[in-house]
Order: sequence, then structure tokens, then C-alpha cells
Amino acid sequence: MYDNIIIHDSTSNKTYLELQKLVSEIKQKYCIFGEFHVLIKDDPANGPNIEMKMVDLNPKKWFSKRTEVLIITKGILENFSPITNADELKALLAHEFSHTLHKDIKFKGITGVVIGLIDLILLDILLQTNQNLIIIIVTVILMIIVSFRVFYHINRKLETRCDEEAYCKTQNREALKNAIKKVGYLGTQNRLGGVIHCIIGYSHPSDEERSARIDSLTFN
Ligand SMILES: [Zn+2]
Repeated sequence: MYDNIIIHDSTSNKTYLELQKLVSEIKQKYCIFGEFHVLIKDDPANGPNIEMKMVDLNPKKWFSKRTEVLIITKGILENFSPITNADELKALLAHEFSHTLHKDIKFKGITGVVIGLIDLILLDILLQTNQNLIIIIVTVILMIIVSFRVFYHINRKLETRCDEEAYCKTQNREALKNAIKKVGYLGTQNRLGGVIHCIIGYSHPSDEERSARIDSLTFN
């Protein structure tokens, strides 16, 4: 029944069948057709995660192309069991499918390249017009900070749109808010670099901002 949802994991069990069902349900809500891949992975060092990513599913094959894949780490499945926390997991999936529908992964890739190219042009102009090493170093640091801040600002807008769409599709405010809080908490448990993020900005709005935004959404 859910043949076009392919879950890549060595130990398929009932949990994954439930996951397949939820993924299929949300995929249909977004009218996304065709084959869809879900990759279950171990948690990275910075904690459990769920995200859409371009992945090479056949790394041994020459010239194989990258496919958009939903990556769910085992920590997410432990904390959002498809059976006991189905509504929260559905809310997370709805958020991730909004990224897919709007081709956010490609858009972010292109945005990163454009920002990088602008930086290179500015660096070239700087090197041609200024010989003072300190000014060059300070300007490069500022350029890096501004580049991250611009990129993250755009990313935060995308995240807010995905939250709004996830609420629209699932109509379960509390489940979405709980899921966001839980993922935020799981992600920050081992996260280092708080100071760096104070300088370069944050990729996502804070949990409080996201919850307030979801609370403000009405259909009338
Ligand atoms: Zn997102």
C-alpha cells in the first residue's frame, strides 16, 4: 500500500511500518507524487535531527545523482514514536514536506552560492584597493558575519513558512508546538558554539518565537 515510501534501514519493524503510513499521509496532503525516500540514521554529535537533504543513494555508482531524502535519526524516532506520538511526528513531517514542496533545499543551495560569489567579488575589490593587512582581515571577518546573518535571516523566513504550512495541513496547534519544543531541546542538549551563534545569528527562530507565531495563526 505504501510502496512508494522507501525506508532505508536494516531493521524494519512495526515502528517503521507506522512511520511509512504517516509519511504517506502527509505526502498526500501536500500532493507530492512519486517515489519518496526516508533514511533512518544514528544521531549525530549535536543530537537527534529530522531534515530534508540531498543524498547520493548509490555512492558506489559513478555519476549517480542526488535525491531529496527525509533523514530521521533514531533519537527522533525514540522521542516521537509513530505509534504513541503520531500527532507530533505528523507535525514534524508536515514541516519537512513544506521544505520539499517549495524546493527549499535547492533554493538554499543557490542562495549560498550567490552569497559566496558576492563575497568573492567584494574580496577581489578589497585586495585591489587596499594593501593594509589589518583592514583586509577585519573586513573579511565582517563579510563572513554578514553573509551568515543574511543566509540565516532568509532561512528563518523559510522555517516560519514551513511552520505555518504544517499547522495549515495538520490543524493541530499543540502537537506542532510540542514537537518544535522537543526537537529544539533535543538539538541543544549537546550543542556547543552558543557564542558563535550570538555573532553569526541563528538558522531557526527561537522555540518561543515559533510557538507565538503558531498561536497567532487563525483561519478567519
Ligand atoms: Zn525546517
